[in-house]
Amino acid sequence: MFSKLSLQTKIVLSMVLGFIVGFILIHFKLNTFTLNWIKPFGTLFINALKAIAIPLVFISLVKGISSLSDLSKLSRLSAKTISLYLFTTVISISFGLILANTFKPGNAFSEEKKISLKLEFGDSTQKKIDSADTKTRPPLQFIVDMVPDNVFKATTDNSKMLQVILVALVFGIAIVLLKKSEVTVLKNLISNLNAVLLKVIDIIMLYAPIGVFALIASLMVEFGGDSISEALDLFLALGAYSLTVLFGLFMMMFLIYPSLIKIFTKVKLTDYFKAVFPIQMVAFTTSSSAATLPVTMENCEKKLGISPEVSSFVLPVGATINMDGTALYQSVSVIFIAQVFGYDLDFSKQLSIILTATLASIGTAGVPGAGIVMLVIVLNSVGMSTEGIALIFAVERILDMFRTVVNVTGDTAVAVIVDASERRSS
Ligand code: ASP
Repeated sequence: MFSKLSLQTKIVLSMVLGFIVGFILIHFKLNTFTLNWIKPFGTLFINALKAIAIPLVFISLVKGISSLSDLSKLSRLSAKTISLYLFTTVISISFGLILANTFKPGNAFSEEKKISLKLEFGDSTQKKIDSADTKTRPPLQFIVDMVPDNVFKATTDNSKMLQVILVALVFGIAIVLLKKSEVTVLKNLISNLNAVLLKVIDIIMLYAPIGVFALIASLMVEFGGDSISEALDLFLALGAYSLTVLFGLFMMMFLIYPSLIKIFTKVKLTDYFKAVFPIQMVAFTTSSSAATLPVTMENCEKKLGISPEVSSFVLPVGATINMDGTALYQSVSVIFIAQVFGYDLDFSKQLSIILTATLASIGTAGVPGAGIVMLVIVLNSVGMSTEGIALIFAVERILDMFRTVVNVTGDTAVAVIVDASERRSS
């Protein structure tokens, strides 16, 4: 009977099952068992998705660009995409700042909790601080970083997605500039390879229900540790903070993006949400927009009818630089930590948070836990001590799941808007 259900329903059911089994595993203290025998089935799902990401981005982007008749379309497309991404990120951060300043989650926080959380999470915090690259980098370093010194090396490292995008852009542009007869075979080959890669995603997704189940069950065990009530206590201690972040994320998802889609396109919101739901599920369970990218691209093309030209450019760029959920999380977290430690963040400091959180979210890699590392940079920029991260560590993993959902939803919303506008102008 299970095999007759749609993939989406299967994924939801396996998530629920993952939660239930997670509780049972915690109850019987089967932590090592989970780590040894359940978690690997989740990790291999994430690995499989990640494995396909670079070839997919490269091939589909080259295919998209090489099918353009002229290059003016490409510059129009990139201008629209980048400005929309910046726009949604700034909205998201401002929204986070407004919420945190209004709800003041830090004021409800007792001195005792502060001390106990600092004691418990001090070490892990130090690791995160150490892994953040807080050395001052030359201002133009990010441009230098975009150009690989070795194409093959760039394609062996998922964190070098921007380099791969750049190489694919140049490769695609070269194809457009050549005479048609000189590249017919290559274009056919690329188009066939693209079809193969899309099929590979279908195959990987057949495994999604098992992967999702294993990921949720093992996450529960990791989060619950030895006792679920202790974990819940921690969560409640940070209740006001977590709720502020979650509220902001939900508003982005159910108010801001839908409004933008309504204003700029004719896409029906029910169709939109139906199409993005499976993408959100994968983002939620993997906590990685990079790993979700293949699913995002496939669903946007197949279910939302976004043209491959648009999706192959907008979505990989989005998975790399557009992290609205992370940006909102960072802005709420900075204000929360400031409130607990009694820092006074005046208006100009808050404005500078908009700038640094935008840059930090652009620099955040689409992998689990990257957002909290980049938070170190935002804290430093407003002269705050980074040890405050210890306060929010306990709920980091859960919030990561939700913010990743918003990160990918933001990418799809921009893709829908850019696609609609491209259709109007062509
Ligand atoms: N996990 C997030 C993502 O992949 C990044 C973050 O940690 O905020 O989109």
